[in-house]
Amino acid sequence: MSVVAVVGAQFGDEGKGKIVELLATDAALVAQYAGGFDPGESLVADGERLVFHVVPSALLRMGRTCLLSQGMALDPRRLLEELAMLEAHHAHHGELKICQRAIVVLPHHIEIDRLRDEGEGASGAPRRGLGPAFADEVARRAVRVGDLIRPAILKEQVRASVEAATPLLEELGGEPPEVEAIVDAYLACGEKLKDRVVDGSRLVSDLAKQEARVILEGGFGTMVDIDHGYYPFVVAASTVAGGAATGVGIAPRLISRVIGVAKAYTTRSGPGPLPSELGGELAKRLTTAGGEISPTTARPRRCGMFDVPVLRYAARVNGFDSVALTKLDVLTGIEELPVCVGYELDGEVRDEPPFEGGSRMQPLMELLPGWSEPIGDCRAWDALPENARRYVELIEETSGVPIDVVKVGPDRAQTIVRRELV
Ligand code: GDP
Repeated sequence: MSVVAVVGAQFGDEGKGKIVELLATDAALVAQYAGGFDPGESLVADGERLVFHVVPSALLRMGRTCLLSQGMALDPRRLLEELAMLEAHHAHHGELKICQRAIVVLPHHIEIDRLRDEGEGASGAPRRGLGPAFADEVARRAVRVGDLIRPAILKEQVRASVEAATPLLEELGGEPPEVEAIVDAYLACGEKLKDRVVDGSRLVSDLAKQEARVILEGGFGTMVDIDHGYYPFVVAASTVAGGAATGVGIAPRLISRVIGVAKAYTTRSGPGPLPSELGGELAKRLTTAGGEISPTTARPRRCGMFDVPVLRYAARVNGFDSVALTKLDVLTGIEELPVCVGYELDGEVRDEPPFEGGSRMQPLMELLPGWSEPIGDCRAWDALPENARRYVELIEETSGVPIDVVKVGPDRAQTIVRRELV
């Protein structure tokens, strides 16, 4: 049996998508378990640049069957637009299924986010209505995907959601939307999506019983998890491996392997603690070489050195069996590489991000010599420059987790497999 969870070990944008693509080659299903609006996957088709935020276009183009699970919040209008883009360019080989229990993003959820401040929320995730939609779920007035073909329930839930949102919308200078207009538009979406709607929990459990490979792909990263991140700079979702079980609706024991994905340095979009944060030339260099610009807001991400306590913590709360380290190539040409191996807080050394840390933590650094040779063509561990190997080994030794795969470029082939991930 092989249900594999792929989890972000840092603040998101670790390169999970590329690791999932590697693992998905022989998977019966890839199920996304958290999130609902990605920074954006782009595809150039017939000279046109198409951007996908909701539909896993790369996996569908690979011919995979994908599931948007119950742990997600989805805007059905955007979903239909993106599916139409794929179909128009005949780029749609895989099959997309949507769990009936997934939360629906309503227009005023997006409007609330827009009025608050377009761009990124407290977690650095794009403001696309996910937070207000999940808030409705907790308040028991959310619409779920299965309700899009149940007019009476849809109307009841939309009315409750609009009623609750009205004072906030007015306070922010907006206007409450028309319940009927939303119901009509969303029923039309339901009609178009209904053949894709499934019981995701059942689908994944049945495949697991048949011993088929299923990949559970996380959104965001551990340090912005609603419970485990630097609260309140977090997303409204459970991004950790435990969240994979509830996010798709399966028993935790069905998950046979948990893979963490960490970038060879640290980035964070939006505000919140980032103890390993770098400034000056080194930060600029990482931003440029790593393409660390948010595709949603066009703002540069904050960059930091590799933060070992974050990986140690992520390994503990997720139970990583294995880690894939991405973007090692971005560090090429940096003379000395600082690595954060611990923090000092009020005169004490801490080996994990402390609850009371905030901005008072001081990083404890080790400086490692860098390498100048390009590594994008390396395909074997021994082909890497010695200092690149030392860098990976230091992270491995100090965090206590095996780094089994190292990515040295965005292409699929630019991967060094030290040990198979599954
Ligand atoms: P996710 O949001 O965590 O799923 O991250 P993505 O899979 O979307 O990756 C973020 C970006 O990093 C994409 O543009 C990838 O092409 C790029 N990327 C992933 N791995 C590597 C790598 O090893 N080297 C470089 N240079 N780019 C990478």
